[in-house]
Amino acid sequence: MCNMMESRGVLSIIFDLDNTLVDTAGAGRFAIQKVYELLTSTPVLESHIRDICECYLRKLHHESFDPSEGKSIDSVRIHHWYEALQETQGTDPDPDLANSCYYTWKNTRLQALTLSPEVRSLLEELRKNYKLLLLTNGDTQTQWEKIEAVRCEGLFSVVVVGGDHPEQKPAHSIFTHCFKSAGVLPQDCIMVGDSLSTDIQGGVNAGVRATVWINSDCKSLPQGSVTPDYTIPSVLNLNDVLAELMLK
Ligand SMILES: [Mg+2]
Repeated sequence: MCNMMESRGVLSIIFDLDNTLVDTAGAGRFAIQKVYELLTSTPVLESHIRDICECYLRKLHHESFDPSEGKSIDSVRIHHWYEALQETQGTDPDPDLANSCYYTWKNTRLQALTLSPEVRSLLEELRKNYKLLLLTNGDTQTQWEKIEAVRCEGLFSVVVVGGDHPEQKPAHSIFTHCFKSAGVLPQDCIMVGDSLSTDIQGGVNAGVRATVWINSDCKSLPQGSVTPDYTIPSVLNLNDVLAELMLK
């Protein structure tokens, strides 16, 4: 008997944004370098600067942002810089300096975040044959600012930001929202992303046809990790996966 589900083939590709389509980690390193340069032009001791930047990055990494508390993500992150300056130097810093560090970091990171011409043309080609979805975790303001900076919204049929929803990847509910918005079924879709715990696990939980892990550092799969169906070093290799899937 003909299996209707299989005969439909892949109709839709769901992409993660950060470190999948854009080099967010690279833009972040560039932004920290700019803050480093800013701090060298202030009275802050040069021997403290690296520790201040590392302290900020630790706070960013462990950040849990709850918009219902009424603070903006900007004010939370300005406070990270304030505390990083305070804890490293042992004195209360000038609040204006924390402000300058934050906006130097934020604006530099946004400016450095771009869709490379190769990735843009890949998406432009793919959208002729597939419904493209963007599904990115993170708080609403930060992620929409990135999407705007990258000028990529028009390439996608649906753009979903985790912070706009009750649950983020890997939760089933946000994938269901994507499928409904795009008018597709899980088995019509492949999920492409760099995070095993959110993109790949989420894709598996949601029952997509295949998961594609972007493993740019050639990391080995951690023990106990979910296993992606395909692993490629860059999103630019996605056509190889699509060709293989077509043969199945
Ligand atoms: Mg990512």
